[in-house]
Parts: sequence; structure tokens; C-alpha cells
Amino acid sequence: MNIAKNRIITIANQKGGVGKTTTAINLATALAAIGERVLIVDLDPQGNASTGLGIDRRDRVLSSYDILVGTHSVSQAVLETAVPNLSIIPSTMDLLGFEMEISQQADRVFRLRKALNLDDAKAYSYVLLDCPPSFNLLTMNAMAAAHSVLVPLQCEFFALEGLSQLLETINQVRQTVNPTLDIQGIVLTMFDSRNNLAQQVVNDVREHLGEKVYTTLIPRNVRVSEAPSYGKPAILYDLKCAGSQAYLQLASEVIQRERLRKAA
Ligand code: ADP
Ligand code: MG
Repeated sequence: MNIAKNRIITIANQKGGVGKTTTAINLATALAAIGERVLIVDLDPQGNASTGLGIDRRDRVLSSYDILVGTHSVSQAVLETAVPNLSIIPSTMDLLGFEMEISQQADRVFRLRKALNLDDAKAYSYVLLDCPPSFNLLTMNAMAAAHSVLVPLQCEFFALEGLSQLLETINQVRQTVNPTLDIQGIVLTMFDSRNNLAQQVVNDVREHLGEKVYTTLIPRNVRVSEAPSYGKPAILYDLKCAGSQAYLQLASEVIQRERLRKAA
């Protein structure tokens, strides 16, 4: 059997504004800080992960679009970030055309898997895929390429409803394009302890999904929301703030789960 050298984790939720990109950036930074080589692939045409990591638009010559269409390799499209050990394949508006251009091709869902299967992608111990907020062809490419899904879930009333839709999609992906796709975990984001409803959502999600839900709760934290405008991960912008500390704790849970999986 071909044992994967790296772990490809897609950060997915069809809802926008739930903390996907924030989680991708800060989890990646935390993993890089402990010496893992990490690659983020920005698959959202909005390019928030690229901007949040300080990648100037003028420097985005090649992007995830180019590796999806297959004209360029990971090592050609990759850019270094200000965070040691953390690289990114940025996004450009070209991604908006991907779905139209490729929709007739038989391998349209497997483009990213193909690109990440090459040796240059395997140099990274973690590859995090930052998805757009929909179940489109870009998200399907991510689901088909990934070993596991990490789901950020905002602590709000409709959280569980959206989650059951997502779990249904993950099941469909398993039945069709990626039978071994695993759920790395579900992380509750933007938790506000003063809000009774948020605590109720946490209890409900834990009751329904048990140990799939990480122990770490990401608090709503103004420093976390300010960081992207400085082109920095929160962990670099303000390491001590509660949000950064929570993301460090999340990273150790992610690593712990990977260790258990390897040992199994
Ligand atoms: P998505 O990628 O799912 O659309 P983002 O990560 O971009 O979501 O987050 C949406 C907005 O919420 C952004 O403005 C981000 O800065 C903010 N945000 C995310 N997580 C937190 C947090 N823990 N505390 C405060 N603001 C947050
Ligand atoms: Mg995003």
C-alpha cells in the first residue's frame, strides 16, 4: 500500500463567515511553529487566506487555478509567507472560471488530487485546503484530494442544520470519489461565553457528534479579527490573546488525532 507521507486536510463548510480561513491560517501557523512544513492551498476566489498571510496581489502570478488546470506544478506555484515553514499557493480571480472551463472533463473532480500526488507536494507534512463557501467544483476537488475534513462551525442557532447538510455531502463524497475521507474534527468557532445560546449550541453539537468535536473552543476575539488586515496570522499578531492560544491548543489536538490514527 502507498502510505501517504503528508496529511491533506480540507477546511470545509458551505457557509461563509464561519471561520474557515481564520482556522486555516492559524492552524497552519501553529503547525509550522512546531517545525512541520505546511502548505496552504487557497481555493477561494476571494483569496482571503492569501491576503491574510500578507501575499500582495501583484505577487500572485500563479495560483491554485494553475495547478488545477495542470499547466503548473505545486513547486512552481508556491510562495513563501512571513511565517517560517509556511508556504501558500495563492488564489486569483482565475479560479472563478475554473468550473466553467473544466465542467466537461471526466477528471474534473480529481484535478487537485492529481496535483498534490506529485513529489513536490509530498515535501509538506501538512497541506491545508481553504475552501470557498459552497459545494462547488473547487470544494469537490478539495474533498476528493483530502485525507480528512476539518469543519469549523460557528456557535449560532442554525449551526446544526448546516452541519447535517455537510455530513450528508461528506457521505456522498465517500460513496463516489473518496471512500477513505475521514472527519479530522469539528471545531466550534466565535464562541461567546456571555451568550446563552452559544453555550446551548456547544452542548447540542457535542451531544450529537460526541468525540468528533474538539475540546478546544475558539473564542470570539477582536485580535483574531484584526490580524488579517495586517497580513498576519493572529498567532503572530498577538500570540497571547485568547484566540491565538485557542488555535495553538487546537493544533495540538489535531496532531494528537494524527498520532492516534497512525498508531491504529
Ligand atoms: P470563512 O472563511 O468561513 O468565510 P473567516 O475565517 O473569513 O470565515 O471569518 C469570517 C469573519 O469573522 C472574518 O472577518 C474573521 O476575521 C472573523 N473571525 C473569524 N474567527 C474569529 C474569531 N475567533 N473572533 C473574532 N472574529 C473572527
Ligand atoms: Mg474563507
